[in-house]
Amino acid sequence: MRTLASRFDDEYWRERDHKAEFPHEFYDAVAKAGYLGVAIPEAYGGSGLGITEAALVMREVAASGGAMAAASAIHLSIFGVSPIVFHGTEEQKRRFLPAVVRGEMHVSFAVTEPDAGNDITHIRTFARREGDYYVINGRKVFTTKARESKKMLILTRTTPFEKVTKKTDGMTLFFADIDPSAVEVRELHKLGRAAVDTNMLFIDNLKVPASDLVGGEGRGFHSLLDGLNPERILVAAEAIGIGRAALAKAVRYAKERVVFGRPIGQNQAIAHPLADVYSKLEAAELMMMKAAWLFDHRKPCGAEANAAKLRAADAAWEACDRAVQTLGGYGYVRDYDVERYFRECRLLKIAPVSQEMVLNSISEHVLGLPRSY
Ligand SMILES: Cc1cc2nc3c(=O)[nH]c(=O)nc-3n(C[C@H](O)[C@H](O)[C@H](O)COP(=O)(O)OP(=O)(O)OC[C@H]3O[C@@H](n4cnc5c(N)ncnc54)[C@H](O)[C@@H]3O)c2cc1C
Repeated sequence: MRTLASRFDDEYWRERDHKAEFPHEFYDAVAKAGYLGVAIPEAYGGSGLGITEAALVMREVAASGGAMAAASAIHLSIFGVSPIVFHGTEEQKRRFLPAVVRGEMHVSFAVTEPDAGNDITHIRTFARREGDYYVINGRKVFTTKARESKKMLILTRTTPFEKVTKKTDGMTLFFADIDPSAVEVRELHKLGRAAVDTNMLFIDNLKVPASDLVGGEGRGFHSLLDGLNPERILVAAEAIGIGRAALAKAVRYAKERVVFGRPIGQNQAIAHPLADVYSKLEAAELMMMKAAWLFDHRKPCGAEANAAKLRAADAAWEACDRAVQTLGGYGYVRDYDVERYFRECRLLKIAPVSQEMVLNSISEHVLGLPRSY
């Protein structure tokens, strides 16, 4: 993966970012080399490897300088279809997964809504049964890659919030077409990662065959839960990759840039923060690998996956910030790339789950403190 990713240099990613163009050449190369199926079972065309191997792929992709643009271009193919892998019917797996592995089917993941961010149970998008179909109406926000994708995994309510006894019940997942006659896709303009689109979806009477319901009616939230820990592990790996890319640029510059007659890296005010960030990235990686090992050995890994995401996102942010500082004025200039890493890695403190919600989870589920919300 490192060799493959090195074919797409900083200039390639800078241009994709500047022009807000999806990195098709990169995506196609990754698909051709078989990496999109790294964690998809061999029976459906994948490699059948674990989340450890998937994490290594994502780390190298981000570390190449592709940062979040590269990671997000392939993340949803590598991991987004996990509800189908874990909960889909045999027929669905055969129908969808090989096309995802071959790179022919881009996938989006439509969960978040304008009035339901971290509190997913308050989604309002509704799927009403009509014979062999469901008809979906609602609004989604932050749906990444919806412009590239013909398909989305969409979380809906099939029983209104007010009518369920347990608030996580009554939600249903579909693998639906993003049919332009029923779904308007409106792009959001973001701080970073312009190469990979993120959108609002306006869904009006979208017809979905009942055969595309994934994981049982009313069981949508529960189908998503299995994917939370592996997703946190992959996101941690992406963060570590970006942090490493930023650190490498900072170290090279600190050796070369001479100010007051000596390389700036000779000043401990420059060197120590970089050494500190190195140790934080290493520590986050160990936590990430521990979580991945536990997951791959079918052991509980919630505490470790959350801690890995928390530490890795913070370490990446610090690495990128220190890289900008090390490059001084040039750190603020596009041609030097660290400002792009800096903008893109900020996302990892917010999505797919915020640092605050990770701390909530550790407080409650690991430390046994009372639930705060
Ligand atoms: C670039 C990008 C891409 C994304 N891609 C997707 C995608 O493909 N599919 C998708 O479904 N979603 C996607 N998301 C959405 C992302 O997962 C959400 O932004 C995230 O879930 C937070 O929701 P929110 O923004 O509505 O925040 P809110 O829920 O409104 O929270 C706002 C702030 O309050 C804090 N907060 C809220 N409640 C508590 C509490 N109880 N304790 C402490 N702090 C709290 C949060 O941590 C956050 O900092 C994406 C977001 C971004 C920015």
